[in-house]
Amino acid sequence: MRISITALILALLAGCAQNPVTGKSDLVMMSESQEIAEGRQADVQIKQQYKVYESKALQDYVNRVGQRIAKQSHRPGLQYHFTVLDSPEINAFALPGGYVYITRGILAYLNSEAELAAVLGHEIGHVTARHGVRQQAAAQATNLALQIASLYVKGLNTAVGQNVANLFGGALLSGYGRDHELEADRLGAQYLTRTEYDPQAIIKVIGVLKNQELKDAELAKQEGREPRRYHGLFASHPDNDTRLQQAVGEASKNGSAHAHAEGREDFLKATDGLVYGDNSDQGIVRNNRFYHADLGIALNFPETWQVHNLPDSLVAVSPRGEAMMQMKMDQKPQGTPSEYAHRMVGYGAQTRSLDLAGLPAATFELPNVMGGVIYHDKKAYIVQAQAKERGGLSAHRDTIFGTVRSFHALTADERKLVKPLGIRIITARPGDTYAGLAQGSPLGKSAESYLRLMNAQYPDGEPRPGQAIKIVE
Ligand SMILES: [Zn+2]
Repeated sequence: MRISITALILALLAGCAQNPVTGKSDLVMMSESQEIAEGRQADVQIKQQYKVYESKALQDYVNRVGQRIAKQSHRPGLQYHFTVLDSPEINAFALPGGYVYITRGILAYLNSEAELAAVLGHEIGHVTARHGVRQQAAAQATNLALQIASLYVKGLNTAVGQNVANLFGGALLSGYGRDHELEADRLGAQYLTRTEYDPQAIIKVIGVLKNQELKDAELAKQEGREPRRYHGLFASHPDNDTRLQQAVGEASKNGSAHAHAEGREDFLKATDGLVYGDNSDQGIVRNNRFYHADLGIALNFPETWQVHNLPDSLVAVSPRGEAMMQMKMDQKPQGTPSEYAHRMVGYGAQTRSLDLAGLPAATFELPNVMGGVIYHDKKAYIVQAQAKERGGLSAHRDTIFGTVRSFHALTADERKLVKPLGIRIITARPGDTYAGLAQGSPLGKSAESYLRLMNAQYPDGEPRPGQAIKIVE
């Protein structure tokens, strides 16, 4: 009650601000400078949670394309920041104030500069139409949990009990609902037209991402995990989506008669060598097994859990999201593993000392917290499981202790696996097929589908001789 009154007072005090796109007044409780300040603050958090991808050439390239589109937007005076994040997730998002992010994970599925421009144009559309700010205003006014607020949660330690899969699996920035997403597509198409990229690239990109989503949903079902989703996607395939076709069609009507720039060659050149999947300095997850070469450790998570390897923590979420495990590290542990566990979770916990092939360890158990402490190379590794609701861990008890017991020093064979995969551009030779290229691919049993998806030739296309295509090695 008190909060809604506060929101009302705020609304009255702040009055209305003009929307840069519509020119109409919005009930927005935020000035532009406030908006920029919020964006800047959240930008620091984003760069802590995700890491910035280390390639100046690629960052410069994405920035060049982004700035070109931003200049043609409804807010050309705003200072825009484009950042490629070192994340395998398929995502792109924008913060209020002109901060736009694109993951290297999504770049792997794009095939031209026009498609990159389409993704950036869509995000710029969210910024110019102030969707983030408007959503925040709406949430404040109705006293709902702020979706954007999840960005301000510092680290994951405080996010315990929340569904981390939802926070970080793409739903974190799960978009703004159908109308705002369509508006972003329409605005993106306008900006692309003015920059002389083909606005149809928007529909093409959504198609590529939709195919990826459909395939991932199929795999997720087999693997019993949550599918990964890109925030701008809706139920129908873009080929049958009349509202989307209309939005893009209208926006591109006033386009110039210039030839449309596709920039396929430039884009492929810029992304040749791009890291695919996990990067090695954050440890590598393969088939839900975690390997860290620098630390010399490995751990197996249950096959059906979704593992998120984030720069500041390693988190696994149960298939239905009701329980999660987190691994943390302590550089200077004191006492034995069970003493450590007692100090950490309380003396009421049941502990049991273990010897994991020479590594001193202990499990601990309370009704709603369980896990283990393992010592390796003078460091302590803590695997801690928690559930959303009381009693939510009991069904996962064996799984959790199984994960603790799987902890081991990295073997020589495992060390060879820890190399990150990368995208390489090759020229298709006569007779090359995706089935052939998939043989021996590190992408595993779905390699053929993944190669087709990455090259926008899903479900049944084949490379043409002489065509530049992406493979992963
Ligand atoms: Zn969007």
